Amino acid sequence: MPVGTLGTVKSLSPEELMEAGAQIILGNTYHLYLRPGCEVIEQFSGLHRFMNWSRPILTDSGGFQIFSLARLSKISENGATFQSHIDGSTHLLTPEKSVQIQISLGSDIIMCLDQCLPYPAEKQSAREALALTTRWARRCKDFWSCQTRKGNLLFGIVQGGMFSDLRSESVEDLVAIDFDGYAVGGLSVGEPKDLMLEMAAVTLPQLPADKPRYVMGVGTPEDLVNLVALGADMFDCVLPTRNARNGQLFTSSGTINISNACFKLDSEPIETGCSCYTCRHYSKAYLRHLYLAKELLAYRFNTIHNVHFFLDLMRRMRMSICNGNFESFKKDFFNKRA
Ligand SMILES: [Zn+2]
Repeated sequence: MPVGTLGTVKSLSPEELMEAGAQIILGNTYHLYLRPGCEVIEQFSGLHRFMNWSRPILTDSGGFQIFSLARLSKISENGATFQSHIDGSTHLLTPEKSVQIQISLGSDIIMCLDQCLPYPAEKQSAREALALTTRWARRCKDFWSCQTRKGNLLFGIVQGGMFSDLRSESVEDLVAIDFDGYAVGGLSVGEPKDLMLEMAAVTLPQLPADKPRYVMGVGTPEDLVNLVALGADMFDCVLPTRNARNGQLFTSSGTINISNACFKLDSEPIETGCSCYTCRHYSKAYLRHLYLAKELLAYRFNTIHNVHFFLDLMRRMRMSICNGNFESFKKDFFNKRA
């Protein structure tokens, strides 16, 4: 899922997202709640019409931003009290309020409010955060079940820090509540890469095979391939869009920095054979020039390619799974990048 933080995947139009093959995008509840605010989006019957996007939208719970971006003043059984990073105003986000906001945004996949801990965290704190996450997940499910507007799905989020036994406990608790899909949260929060994969390897196979499994906030192309191998179905990450704006472009043989002097006279596209709009029309030399000159088109053209690259990678993995040759796809992928 390309990340559309503020009701826009930065620099791309909905048409460009569709051309890149985006089936679904992510919207950030925290950001949209603060700006432009639910009142504005409700006026348009939801985010779909407001931003002119007709395909599904997943919204996060707002929890991650509260714990990372806002000034968190208090966390209690009832919810999280925080101060807006924009104007310092104080807000209380309860599990019910988070679901309510996501419903008013018109979200197709609603995420439960969870408590995400930074890395490293003591086992006792991880245990308490996991227990609170489970109680909040129950409240989200109860509240969501009572709402008349259905058609959307509700996903639970596995926590448990970097502790295998806590991860298993979290899975068990959430599966007992019964959600439409399950996310693995609390990864990619600063831990070493092998620990991230280890926790995913513990968690993913325990989740129901007939429900979507979503690894939140991950990751590099290598991460996606490794995690799909472990059973992950969905991801969101700002990497393709943010890195595009920093001139870092993804190719099947690795990443390149478009500002590099070696591209000054390079008449080839970013990746030969890439079917994205940028690669079909522009050379690396032109993209380098746009980027160095800080021209607005640089952000758009770079983002078009990176989003296309990630979605195409997912598309190729889906195909290889359907055709029963994922293992050889994976081997081939890592050979090319080596
Ligand atoms: Zn391309």
